[in-house]
Formats: sequence, structure tokens, C-alpha cells
Amino acid sequence: MEISEMAAVGGNEHKQETICILGTGDFGHSLGMRLLKSGYPVVFGSRSPQESSLLPSCAQIFTHTEALKKAKIIFLAVHRENYDFLPALSSFLDGKVLVDVSNNLRKNQYPESNAQYLSKLVPKAIVVKGFNTVSAWALQSGSLDANKQVFICGDDSKSKQQVMDVARSLGLTPLDQGSLLAAEEVENYPLQLFPMWRLPLTIAFGLTVFFFFYCVVIDIIHPYVTTNTDVSYKLAISVPNRIFPNVSLILLSLVYLPGVIAAFLQLNRGTKYERFPSWLDRWMLCRKQLGLVALAFAFLHVLYTFILPTRYSVRWRWMHSMIEESKKNKTMELNKVQSWRVDVYFALGMMGFGLYVLLGITSLPSVSNVVNWREFRFVQSKLGHVTLLLCTAHTAVYGWDRFLQSKRYKWKLPQAYMLGMHSRYVDVEKNDTHNKALKSGLVYCTSCRIYMGPRL
Ligand code: NAP
Repeated sequence: MEISEMAAVGGNEHKQETICILGTGDFGHSLGMRLLKSGYPVVFGSRSPQESSLLPSCAQIFTHTEALKKAKIIFLAVHRENYDFLPALSSFLDGKVLVDVSNNLRKNQYPESNAQYLSKLVPKAIVVKGFNTVSAWALQSGSLDANKQVFICGDDSKSKQQVMDVARSLGLTPLDQGSLLAAEEVENYPLQLFPMWRLPLTIAFGLTVFFFFYCVVIDIIHPYVTTNTDVSYKLAISVPNRIFPNVSLILLSLVYLPGVIAAFLQLNRGTKYERFPSWLDRWMLCRKQLGLVALAFAFLHVLYTFILPTRYSVRWRWMHSMIEESKKNKTMELNKVQSWRVDVYFALGMMGFGLYVLLGITSLPSVSNVVNWREFRFVQSKLGHVTLLLCTAHTAVYGWDRFLQSKRYKWKLPQAYMLGMHSRYVDVEKNDTHNKALKSGLVYCTSCRIYMGPRL
């Protein structure tokens, strides 16, 4: 199909406009193909037009000068290091829209942005920064499974609008970022590696490492040193399942703590028109990510808790305790208080997790886009505090009164649950049968008068 035929598709005023692309490399080639498919007449400008054999047969390839004569919108698909050929073409770029799509290898690699440098090189052209956040691959694959956002900035609003129209015609979503001063930020954007996730992941990693070593000392090294009991198998499931809820609860509280600190700060200052310290600013900005990491840990806690009854060691201990009770010919009575306590503990946990998931879902852009500000605040703030309350209550009921018992403090260390308000609920009596059971890792509930299974 001829270019003119392809360009006839669509009635948009700018679709009829011929677009020039300087540079026939990966980006220029992919952008050209996409423009042609969208109905734009495209001309390529190349240093060696005869050798550019990779371009589609319907594309027209000229020398730089010839190509520039045919279009008013020019995409510069050339690396910044090679911009020095442009000043010689200055007269052909007079009053034309020159789109800078370039990226750098490092953040703030040059003292000024590539777009500002370009605008100094060819002051007669109207430079617009954009399309640098879209990859050649995304242009080729039709953006079906890639980010569609295109950040655009420039000093001339009419030219900026023209480039945004082109982006829209390609099925992309242009976002106006303001004047050319924003080009540095736009150029740094593709070089960022999860900037908002770094702090939450570092905190989560630090807490995980801390709780891991803490639990290993209390749950594995302590029984080995004091009773010569090897319970190292707990490293696979029991220890992680102590870490996950503690880290999750601490992270969730860290989501809401900066809001409280900020409120106190404003009350203390007597004004809200003063900047927060930068550490608080940073903390507040990554609350969503903190919440999502907390949710991931809560999810792992739920998964690990579900599989507990299927573990070999747990099933073995339950059978062992039943046989022991049968030998003694004892009838176990149901302890109503314990039943209530355990049921309430699970109910609080399930409700807390349900709201946790709801908070996670509403933080997704596709969901938050369809709720208004008041609804979003209601879910994230009010329901968020309820979630924190439910999860704390879940942990408090789980812990019950163990924190009052001095024997719980192994090597005078509080148990991990006490640090994240987490606890075991079983109590032990000291007699021979119990000691035997305890040696095999079994725990005994005094109020129920039954073996409750292993310390998990
Ligand atoms: P590329 O494959 O290396 O192509 C660059 C093109 O620039 C060459 O094919 C060449 O075209 C032209 N060129 C090279 N040296 C030149 C010189 N000394 N003077 C004039 N023209 C010269 O690079 P690319 O991947 O297409 O990237 C092009 C621009 O797009 C870069 O600024 C890059 O940062 C940006 N970008 C690329 C992507 C991507 O996914 N590739 C994504 C976003 C932005 P001719 O031989 O036809 O002259």
C-alpha cells in the first residue's frame, strides 16, 4: 500500500500531516511503522538513505534536508551525542516542531536536559520533549502489554498539543508535564528503578532479618541449649510464620504513624503552611507501597497458617497426644473460655485480612480512578484504621495474658509476638508426663487440660 493510501485512513486534522523521522534505528523504525499504521504519511531522514533496507517498502527515505522540507513535525530519533549535525540544518527547522525522544544512560548525566540542549543548538525550532518513556518494542507490539503513558513537555502549547494528538492517534495516553524545564524529570523517569518501593522494601527486609534471628535464638537455639532438643525443622515453616505477622503488623502501623506525627507537628507549629521535614515527606509518600508490602506479608501468614495442620510433625503430635490420653482413660472437657478465645482470635484475623485485601484493591489505579476523593479517603483512612485495630486485636487475643508470665521470657527475652504483639496461648504444667511431652515439642493447655499440638 502507498503511503498516501495509508494516510487517507482517519479524519483527524493532524493525521493528514506528514511526519518526518530523523534516524532509521530501532526507535525511528518502530515509530515510523506505528505512524504508518495509524494513517500518517511518514518520511524518514537518514545519513545514508540508499542503505536503510530494514524500513518498510512503503516508507519514503530521503537525506536529512529533503525529509525536513516535507514535514512540520519532526521526530528526532538520534542519540544526544550525535546532535551536532543539526545546526547545519537550522534553516530547514525554522518554526517547525522538533520532538526530542532521547534518553540517557544515567540520571542527570549532563548539566542540562537533552531537550534544553537541543533547543539551544537549533533555537529556530520549537522543541517538545516526549515519547522517551515508550520503548521501540512497545511501539512495535502495539502497546497492548506495555505502559501507554507518554509524558510531554514544551514551552509552546500549540506544538505540545500537536504532539499529544499524534500520541493519542497511536493509542497512547499523553500526559502534559508543563514547560521544557520539566524535561530533565521526564528524561530521568525511564532510568528509575522502583523509587517509591526502595524504602518500604528496605524496612521490610530489615524487620525480616531481625525477626528471623530473634526467633531462631528463642525457638531453636534456646531449646537446644537448655533441654538438648533439636527443633531445627521449625526453620522452614514455624519461624517464617512468626516473622510474617509481626512484620506485616509493624508495616501496617508504619502506614498510619506518619499521619499522626504530621498532625502533632502541625498542632505544635500552630499552622499547616510549613513544610514537613524531608524524612517525614519521604515516609508519607511511600505509604501506599508500605501498605502493599504489609499485605504481601499478611497473605503469606494466611497461607502458612492454612497448611499448619497438614504438617507431618503436627499430625504426629496430635496422634501422640490422643494415644497418651487414651492410655490414661481420661475424658477431656471442652473449655468454653478457650473456645471463645480461639474463635474470636480467628474471627478478628479473618475480618482484618478481608479489610486488608480491600485496602490493597482500592489502591490499584484502575479502582481508585472510579471512586471520588471522599470515598477513597473513607476506605484508605477510616477502614485502614479499622484494619489496623482488628489486626492488633487479633494479635492481642492470640497473646492473651502470656506477657505477664515470667517463664515466657527465655533468656530474659520477650517472645517475638510481644514485639509485634503476637503470642502463643498455651500454658504448661510441670510434671513428668508434661516434661516428656514438652521434650517432644508438645504444649499443654492448663485450662483445657489437653495437649494443644506443637509450639508452631
Ligand atoms: P539506534 O538504533 O542506535 O539508532 C540511532 C540512529 O541515529 C541511527 O540508526 C542513525 O540513523 C542515526 N545516527 C547515528 N549516528 C548519527 C550521527 N553521527 N549523525 C546523525 N545521525 C546519526 O538508536 P535508537 O534505539 O533508535 O534510539 C534513538 C533515540 O531514541 C535515542 O535518543 C534513544 O535514547 C531514544 N529512545 C530509544 C528507545 C528504544 O527503545 N530504542 C526508547 C525511547 C527513546 P541513520 O543511519 O539513518 O542516519
